[in-house]
Amino acid sequence: MSVAKLKVGMLGGTFDPVHFGHLRSAIEVREALGLDRLHMIPAPQPPLRESPQISAEQRFELLKIGIGDTPGLLADGRELLRDGPSYSVDTLAELRREYGSDVPLIMIIGFDAFLRLAQWHRADTIFTLAHVVVIARPGYQTAWPDALRELVGDREVDSNSTLMQSPSGRLLTLTLPSMMAISATYIRERLSRGESVRYLLPEAVEKAILQYGFYQTSE
Ligand code: ATP
Repeated sequence: MSVAKLKVGMLGGTFDPVHFGHLRSAIEVREALGLDRLHMIPAPQPPLRESPQISAEQRFELLKIGIGDTPGLLADGRELLRDGPSYSVDTLAELRREYGSDVPLIMIIGFDAFLRLAQWHRADTIFTLAHVVVIARPGYQTAWPDALRELVGDREVDSNSTLMQSPSGRLLTLTLPSMMAISATYIRERLSRGESVRYLLPEAVEKAILQYGFYQTSE
């Protein structure tokens, strides 16, 4: 009897804090790609942005609360154990070692993050370790920068089935059913003004944020 190959996804981010834009996208991308597991991995020190307002451990805690018992989504704190900047390429190399060389491994990123992919640490190595799936985000329709065109080259495919024929090296863009114009920035801004964030993130995450007093002063 042949054992079906696992399909594994990784969604990294600052998760400052996790919100329904992340969680609903994670569920829909998992369904669209038929992923067995989607590792959601907070970055302790994101290389290309300002320091988050709350600690990596606190963001990880909120992520765990947000995911709760959602099937297939894993709150994965592995980057918290590493020193120095969090590079996705290192995390993908780790996942590749764990799952073996045959398994399709997919790095999922929103279109806003994708626009800067050519600036990421060892961006070309990312494609030797994984596929990249880009999620359309409301409000982002910018043309690709030249460096990104060069990086992607002829890697683009237009279907999940073509993507899954190999373990890595391809790029697919997906428009998911629920495009949510929710960002963590918007949530932090509202919290700093004492405004409601209900229905932008899970109620349990909202409760924890309010209980701990996170994001309630603007910096
Ligand atoms: P911030 O507003 O602080 O920049 P964010 O809401 O964009 O945060 P991140 O933690 O930076 O959240 O995002 C992690 C990943 O999830 C990125 O690849 C990002 O593009 C994607 N993402 C975030 N929000 C959404 C959304 N509403 N729809 C689809 N993808 C999203």
